[in-house]
Amino acid sequence: MTVKDPKFIISAVRPDQYPESDMLEVAFAGRSNAGKSSLINALAGRKKLAYSGSTQGMTRQINFYDIDGEITFVDLPGYGYAAVSKDQKALWGKVIEEYLNVRPQLYMVILLMDARHDPSGDDLTMYEWIKASGLEYAIVLTKCDKLSRMQVLGRVREIGRILGEEDGGKLFPVSSTDKKGIPELWEVIDRAFEED
Ligand code: GDP
Repeated sequence: MTVKDPKFIISAVRPDQYPESDMLEVAFAGRSNAGKSSLINALAGRKKLAYSGSTQGMTRQINFYDIDGEITFVDLPGYGYAAVSKDQKALWGKVIEEYLNVRPQLYMVILLMDARHDPSGDDLTMYEWIKASGLEYAIVLTKCDKLSRMQVLGRVREIGRILGEEDGGKLFPVSSTDKKGIPELWEVIDRAFEED
């Protein structure tokens, strides 16, 4: 899909603040700094649609984006930021959990992981939730421009092994910097929606 007119809709923390819309949603989840804002911008073909929270690692809201009136992108708060208190972590976990559990429009989850690192405990928890939910999903390995092509293949295999996704069919290496893998990821999203 070539995006023509992506728009920020709203930031929300509680379900009563989520936008009223029938559009189906693709939620982006991952550790803070995994590259969520960059990926949303790359998919939308914009430089500054999604703002990086990584400077403070403090993006605790859910941001909703209207993608040409066809899909809503949902940027979930990044988890696992080290320098916040236990209470804050619990609160962010609640914001994410609540969205995942109450939102009927949620159709697909894209779980991002830095290709260079093994999944964290939080990543594994998120992955297990996604599998159990029966939703469409994709695991996106980010920042692949920092690795050689051989290394990328090795990381896809290793992360696939850790997750039990050995056939690799759900793992997509991308680089938001050089846009590698972005058209392929759009194809995966489009295909998931066509099957609906
Ligand atoms: P978020 O916290 O998950 O939203 O992550 P950001 O999108 O803000 O990215 C975190 C950091 O990683 C920033 O410094 C980005 O410039 C960098 N980054 C994100 N995606 C890529 C990528 O594909 N390649 C490279 N080299 N850096 C990236």
